[in-house]
Amino acid sequence: MDFPKIEKEILKFWQENKIFEKLRQKNKGKKQWSFLDGPITANNPMGVHHAWGRTYKDLFQRYKAMQGFDERFQNGFDCQGLWVEVEVEKELGFKNKKDIEKYGIEKFVERCKERVRKYSKIQMEQSIRLGQWMDWDNSYYTMSDENNYAIWYFLKKCQEKELLYKGRDVVPWCPRCGTAISQHEILTEEYKEIVHKAIFFKLPVIGQKDTYFLGWTTTPWTLPANVALAVHPELDYAIVKSKIKNQNAKLQIKNQKLNEEKIILLKNKINVLGDDYEVVKTIKGKELENMEYEGLFDELPAVREGIGKFEHSVVLWKDVTSEEGTGIVHIAPGCGQEDFQLSRELGLPVIDPTNDESCYKEGFGNLSGKFVFEDETRDLIFESLRGKNLVFKIEDYKHRYPTCWRCKTELIFRLVNEWYISMEELRGPLKETTKKIKWFPSFGQDRELDWLNNMQDWLISKKRYWGLALPIFECQKCGNFEVIGSKEELKERAVEGWDEFAAPLKRGEPRLRREGHSPHRPWIDKIKIRCQRCGSLLSRILDVGNPWLDAGIVPFSTTGYFQDRGYWRKWFPADFICESFPGQFKNWFYVLLVMSQVLEDTNPFKTVLGYATVVDEKGEEMHKSKGNAIWFDEAVEKIGADVMRWMYSKQNPVFNMKLGYNIAKETKRKLLTLWNSYTFFETYVSKKEIPNPKSQSTSWRTNKFQIPNSKNILDQWIISKLNRLIGVVTESLDKYDAARASKAIEDFFVDDLSLWYIRRSRKRFQNPKKETEKQEAVETLYFVLLTLTKLFSPMMPFLAEEVYQKLKDEEMPQSVHLCDWPKIIEKAVNQELENQMDSIREIITKTLAKRTELGIKVRQPLPKLKIKNALFKPVGLTSPSREKLKITEELLDLIKEEVNVKEIVFDDKIKEEIELDVKITEELKEEGVVREIIRHIQDLRRIAGLTPKNKALIIYMASLDISKVLEKNKDFILKTTRAVEIKRVESKKEKFDKEKTMKVASQEFWLAIKKVE
Ligand SMILES: [Zn+2]
Ligand SMILES: [Zn+2]
Repeated sequence: MDFPKIEKEILKFWQENKIFEKLRQKNKGKKQWSFLDGPITANNPMGVHHAWGRTYKDLFQRYKAMQGFDERFQNGFDCQGLWVEVEVEKELGFKNKKDIEKYGIEKFVERCKERVRKYSKIQMEQSIRLGQWMDWDNSYYTMSDENNYAIWYFLKKCQEKELLYKGRDVVPWCPRCGTAISQHEILTEEYKEIVHKAIFFKLPVIGQKDTYFLGWTTTPWTLPANVALAVHPELDYAIVKSKIKNQNAKLQIKNQKLNEEKIILLKNKINVLGDDYEVVKTIKGKELENMEYEGLFDELPAVREGIGKFEHSVVLWKDVTSEEGTGIVHIAPGCGQEDFQLSRELGLPVIDPTNDESCYKEGFGNLSGKFVFEDETRDLIFESLRGKNLVFKIEDYKHRYPTCWRCKTELIFRLVNEWYISMEELRGPLKETTKKIKWFPSFGQDRELDWLNNMQDWLISKKRYWGLALPIFECQKCGNFEVIGSKEELKERAVEGWDEFAAPLKRGEPRLRREGHSPHRPWIDKIKIRCQRCGSLLSRILDVGNPWLDAGIVPFSTTGYFQDRGYWRKWFPADFICESFPGQFKNWFYVLLVMSQVLEDTNPFKTVLGYATVVDEKGEEMHKSKGNAIWFDEAVEKIGADVMRWMYSKQNPVFNMKLGYNIAKETKRKLLTLWNSYTFFETYVSKKEIPNPKSQSTSWRTNKFQIPNSKNILDQWIISKLNRLIGVVTESLDKYDAARASKAIEDFFVDDLSLWYIRRSRKRFQNPKKETEKQEAVETLYFVLLTLTKLFSPMMPFLAEEVYQKLKDEEMPQSVHLCDWPKIIEKAVNQELENQMDSIREIITKTLAKRTELGIKVRQPLPKLKIKNALFKPVGLTSPSREKLKITEELLDLIKEEVNVKEIVFDDKIKEEIELDVKITEELKEEGVVREIIRHIQDLRRIAGLTPKNKALIIYMASLDISKVLEKNKDFILKTTRAVEIKRVESKKEKFDKEKTMKVASQEFWLAIKKVE
């Protein structure tokens, strides 16, 4: 079974016959089911983790299409933002923003667009290979004019609602990318274990000789920005001095000065000092308030200027903890978010030491121009403090530290002016909206609410190049800022630069540019408008937008919100969205909620399915550098798209999915069971035996939801099971539970269909007692296979198509994907029969175990099996109708055949649940021998590649005893094995195809087979 080969043929079949187009046509204008695609970042080839989500997206869209829903099938590509920029910078070998400016923004932005075009095409091809059906020609790109102008509209609405503001705040900042990082872009994954130098430093208390506060930090570069120290008002602080020890005189003299030193720190942190200290006095933190100290770098002009008339002093702060450090917190409002907050509350001055490149500004002495994370810079600071005798100790300190989500550079915190959307007013309504949505897994709602409780204002500006041009024009003269809400408005307001911006295409310019330039840098920056307040000429702020704005607007920009409200209303809110949940609570889910809240005051989607991530077979994260990453292109050709899809479908989305070639083999093995059920059917059923719509006997075919009307107990049972399966699969998929649906399907085709129904029905196909017996079996199996194929077609569209094409007749739809979703037929479900079957399968398992225990092969018939009544309740014992007794008898026959006994007796008095009579008579022994030989012949037929239609000649060498048995049962053997002759020989002279030597009844036995033409 070569999955990739079949899949490529099916792809061709779909394409040539326009099956997808036919499906859309079939459902057009019917009731809508609205799926909204979260855009994939078109920045690299898609990975195996994307394929997981794409499998869900495809699966549910196919399922809904089979139920007759009209769908949009729109795919999305995410195009703008730092992630693309960083890759292009790598391509060009750039180190920082200066390189981009040198290269030219226009050329750089063009390169970004090119990259997106290239990778969106690759991702599309990969998705098609995965079997994903989308209206690919109609994919949306977040870099499109429509999308960008839609965000302008949104921002204008924010301004009208007074939510948009320019704020001065300390934010996480990437030194390499030279831009602020939004709070929601820092995920827990972005924290890395890093070893920094931590320094304990002393701050001389003014007015108290030889007394010092002991401070601590892991970011020494922030020390020049220190303005205050914070202590907890209620905690106990200790004033300590070093013990005089019985040491030699020399050392004592050296320590003389030290001995006079007094150190102040949190009482339960004195262990950081070592053993040589004793507490002189204990005081509450609040008693330290307003105590003044000498700054560490007061000699630097920038520090003096920053601090102004303020004196360094101790402030009280309830957030001081005893977890790390000394309980005396170094406060640098220009370098820390909490510090900055505190400075606002207490009116502390702010020293802002860094520039855009994260180097010290002018006025910091020999530090000026130095990068803050450079070892050399750190050493300069240590050196300066050592010179002032203010270093207590320096040690390595391992901690989790935030890094840039794009380039993994360690972040700093710095004071900047950025643009924000205020979240305070939205917080409450957003929480209400969140509760209206169905979250799968259900903890999603709590995660989202948790984020909404903790989120700060949304920082939307980035000092970068490739992205949404924020339509904000700021007046340097009067402080007014204006937001432009559309292209038309911009045209109307433009007093300069419009013609250049809107100039028509030049030859060789990208096709995506329809009319003039896209609203991107640098072209958009040429436009000037006039300040409505003071009449000055205004330029656009140079910032681009946070990329999540791009993805958040798609419920509006892609569904005609601006062009056709009627159409938009039909598809909004989306019935379903589906993305990997790590991160999305703060990202896509969140921005969708925010933008929809601002624009329409409602939820943009009704249901969300989140799923975890893909890890390797050992459960470890996949990394290029670790060498354990699996690439989609390789995986799909090695494993097959459907096998991958089946793995994804079966996975519980709450947990990370382990993916690897060994696990894939295991999955493939299960799917082969399914495939073998079809081959069984194909092998034993000729085309003309397949139920024909015109034939009278197969009434179910002409009658749409009829079922085969077999009297056979196994047939009735499998039909009952199948209908139950339809119920479970439908119910699960309605709840977006693909794992439950897939698991049920797999249990069905392994345990029920293959291991039981087909196993126990073999004889009816191979050697039916009468024609109707086979007819019933064929009808049933055909119906089961056909229905089953439809049930798994959303998960494994290729395999389903392959099988369907083998089964279908000319009156059925051209493709399995054009079929209607199977409906459950309640009356075909027979709970009583299913229970009975469970009981007898349990008895069989126990009996077979007993045989193994006794060392008697199953092929050896035994005279009797006794069953304790409790194990099996024959149907209708109290009022046995003839029909019910017949069912019981048929069920007991199944046991007899399966465990190979001649008789079954119910006996309440036996000790164990079952008891086997193992008296083997000569007759039974002979039967055992015949059975065993038949099995070997069948095996040889298979090895020789004979089809059931082929006749065979059998030759053998054996003892006289066995030979006698064979002669006696010759007719039976010939019939069962479809052989024309069975011949005893003395040597291997005769020609044969395949041979085999074995022991039968403890005697040497040689067997060979030859195909007879
Ligand atoms: Zn970065
Ligand atoms: Zn103005």
